[in-house]
Amino acid sequence: MSKAERAGAILEIDLAAVVANWRLLCAMHPSGPVAGVVKADGYGLGAMPVAQALYAAGCRHFFVALLDEAIAIRAAVPEGMIAVLGGLLPGTERDYLGCDVVPVLGSLAEIEAWSATARAVDCRLPAILHVDTGMSRLGLDRRELEVLQQEHARLKDLELSYIMTHLISSEVSDDPLNERQLQRFNSACAGLPPAPRSILNSSGMFLGPRFAFDLARPGAALYGINPTPHAETNPMTLPVRLTARVVAVREIGECQTVGYNATWRAPGRRRIATAAIGYADGLHRSLSNRGHAFFDGKAVPLVGRVSMDLTTFDVTNAPGVVPGAWLEIIGPAQTPDDLAVAAGTNGYEILTSLGRRFHRIYKPA
Ligand SMILES: *Cc1c(COP(=O)(O)O)cnc(C)c1O
Repeated sequence: MSKAERAGAILEIDLAAVVANWRLLCAMHPSGPVAGVVKADGYGLGAMPVAQALYAAGCRHFFVALLDEAIAIRAAVPEGMIAVLGGLLPGTERDYLGCDVVPVLGSLAEIEAWSATARAVDCRLPAILHVDTGMSRLGLDRRELEVLQQEHARLKDLELSYIMTHLISSEVSDDPLNERQLQRFNSACAGLPPAPRSILNSSGMFLGPRFAFDLARPGAALYGINPTPHAETNPMTLPVRLTARVVAVREIGECQTVGYNATWRAPGRRRIATAAIGYADGLHRSLSNRGHAFFDGKAVPLVGRVSMDLTTFDVTNAPGVVPGAWLEIIGPAQTPDDLAVAAGTNGYEILTSLGRRFHRIYKPA
């Protein structure tokens, strides 16, 4: 018996769809290159296969959150930039140098540490400068920015690949915060040495040409998350399909309860299917008594608590569901964004929670 036949749940990942999403974003962004953001293991889809597929399609800029994530994908990106968004941790400079990874510098201390490394190796080193325009998370704050604007010499040992900032509300296209961040970014750059600029995440790419600049940094949209949630249609293609195996089906009588703590009580005779997927696989426990799966295009309600390895569905109206059947958890009928609404989170958290014990099938680009 094959691994797929034994599997409790199968995650199918269509790399051609990821590449198609990237190409669509490239076509929308004529003013510069479009990077692939592959942090958090490629938003749960697999940083290595995603980076390989994007690289083969011509992508030459990659962003991750952590140095180890950069090292992990270096083999997939033989040429081109891998940048670490999380900043330069003290003592890691030699590791950045060793695998040719670009740090995103967000403080004067990081600028100085990277400059000292540059002087030690007697070579100007590439860096991305991160300016905070509203997130208060990473990036030069206003005070440090002013110092740098007055003392450009602090950057003399570095090759500024990009000056970047990060939008805090770009999925809300009419949020005045977008405009305010754009103004802050423009005035920050005006006082700094000239360098290419990068501001756009996925949703930002739909804010219009005034926001465009040089390098775009989409993540979510590559993986099919809707970058324009205010619009009805999602311009991106969903590259994932998650199906879970039905391991048991039973009939229960009126008033019989299902699952931990008896949170669901049958209103009459019901057929209950138990599927081999649970919160350990990223099916959020908050979906208890709220979510759905799909069988043959028909919604079957999730009943009772989601447990660690198993979840129960009311399949009374889907007589085709028998032991061994597959229920679709994520797919065309239920996108990560749809599931996120039911779970009280966003599509990003749905994808990055996808479990490690699925049988994964990659469809090559
Ligand atoms: C995660 C991240 C991105 C990508 O954002 P998406 O909304 O997934 O497109 C871009 N820039 C920074 C700084 C990030 O942290």
